[in-house]
Amino acid sequence: RKAIVAVVGRPNVGKSTLFNTIAGKQISIVQDTPGVTRDRIYAEASWLNYHFTLVDTGGIEPVSDDILLKQMRSQAELAIETADVIIFVTDVRSGVVDADYEVANMLRKSKKPVVLCVNKVDSVKKFGNDIYEFYSLALGEPFAVSSANHMGIGDLLEEVVKHF
Ligand code: GDP
Ligand code: MG
Repeated sequence: RKAIVAVVGRPNVGKSTLFNTIAGKQISIVQDTPGVTRDRIYAEASWLNYHFTLVDTGGIEPVSDDILLKQMRSQAELAIETADVIIFVTDVRSGVVDADYEVANMLRKSKKPVVLCVNKVDSVKKFGNDIYEFYSLALGEPFAVSSANHMGIGDLLEEVVKHF
């Protein structure tokens, strides 16, 4: 059976951008406008000789912290149920926030393999030192990525396929 890789994380961290970068097609909707429903989208992706199914997760733009947390919990539960490997996407620009800890705890308890992606590291010189605080999520090594600029994707995927 082909491995399933799910991309989870807060709204606007760049999940869909990462998904599109890995899938190599513009099939996941990148959304700047809040309030638009985004459905989960699947793609058949390949890297080197590995073939896997990639799942983007989205949802409705949360109107409150309560709704955000609720949404992130169900998103994480779904990923835990269906995925073989989970890419947990965070944002170097916002740093680690409470909702990240919440999801990280759920993912850690699930014992599913999780690869921690710190996105929007467009410049290692500028943001390189900011990735260390992501160790506090206790999910192992944070992988610095710029999904928009296709940087760090190889190292991230190398870690992902180790769990196939
Ligand atoms: P999602 O809600 O997690 O799916 O996030 P999106 O993929 O829709 O991206 C949210 C916003 O972050 C968009 O404006 C993207 O262009 C932007 N973004 C995504 N990846 C990067 C990145 O690597 N660097 C920067 N600077 N912006 C990014
Ligand atoms: Mg999205």
